[in-house]
Amino acid sequence: MKRVVLLGSPVAHSLSPVIQNAAFQVSGLDWCYEAIETEAEELEPALDRMRAEAWPGANVTIPLKEAVMPLLDELDPSAIEVSAVNTVVNEGGHLVGHNTDSSGFMRDLRAHWRVPTHGVAVILGAGGAARAVAAALARQGLELVLIARSERRAGMLADHIQLRHSGKATAIPWNRQAFQRIPPDCVLIVNATPLGMAPADQDSPWPAEVPIPAAAFVYDLVYTPRETRLVQEARLSGHQSVSGGGMLLEQGALSYEQWTGRRAPRRQMRATLRRAQERLHA
Ligand code: NAP
Repeated sequence: MKRVVLLGSPVAHSLSPVIQNAAFQVSGLDWCYEAIETEAEELEPALDRMRAEAWPGANVTIPLKEAVMPLLDELDPSAIEVSAVNTVVNEGGHLVGHNTDSSGFMRDLRAHWRVPTHGVAVILGAGGAARAVAAALARQGLELVLIARSERRAGMLADHIQLRHSGKATAIPWNRQAFQRIPPDCVLIVNATPLGMAPADQDSPWPAEVPIPAAAFVYDLVYTPRETRLVQEARLSGHQSVSGGGMLLEQGALSYEQWTGRRAPRRQMRATLRRAQERLHA
């Protein structure tokens, strides 16, 4: 049996194993997908093992998406663009790093909304997922406002967007005034923080006293619960809104296609994800 692994910490909550194992099974592949709790110092030995045991590949998640980059043999342009790797493909012992988060996000966003080519998009957070989202939106031509707790991280991301994508990006520290300063013609709000994630925290990252700009589509990367508080509240105030299950599915389907060279069975993967989310919140 061929083994594909998820490396990171924590990984116990991840729904990727159920989705990928369903995909392998539907496709008749004798492969298994396994989450392995991996600390930074365990990453290089895990990659050596991947080469030695000819595992087809891996997903990499927090906090290792950047740390893995110098340990690989090659970086695909998708990883260079975001400066983070979430997918490793083992090409006969030559490990290539890809990023499917960025395209996965954009594919899912496009499935729900006609994404404009200009206007302001607000991203909450400046971590790995925010970088993938920022690259996708800058590619689309949107101007970015990055609101994050860490001014340094948000500033670095804004610099990256300006340098690599020649896009306009402004970093703002996270406080009430930041939300009040959001331009009223903002077209998109993306939550790329874990705020709202069950079971620990089901708050909305958006302050209740600040109205969501009227024309904004709201996308929450959090996918447990299936409908986050932010998504529910946005819908109640008349906004189109969606949470991150679709992105999880798309980035996973794109990773599957990199490892197997086959088209991912998205319909079955989506049904499996939905059942897993229902089980979690039964
Ligand atoms: P990350 O690299 O740890 O970054 C998290 C970001 O959120 C950082 O900017 C962090 O700020 C900020 N943050 C954390 N707690 C906060 C709080 N209480 N208030 C304000 N900001 C806070 O994590 P990530 O990989 O970007 O993931 C972020 C979220 O996206 C997670 O919930 C993850 O599950 C989700 N995600 C979903 C998908 C999908 O496919 N749907 C894919 C990737 C990620 P500091 O820098 O100050 O800590």
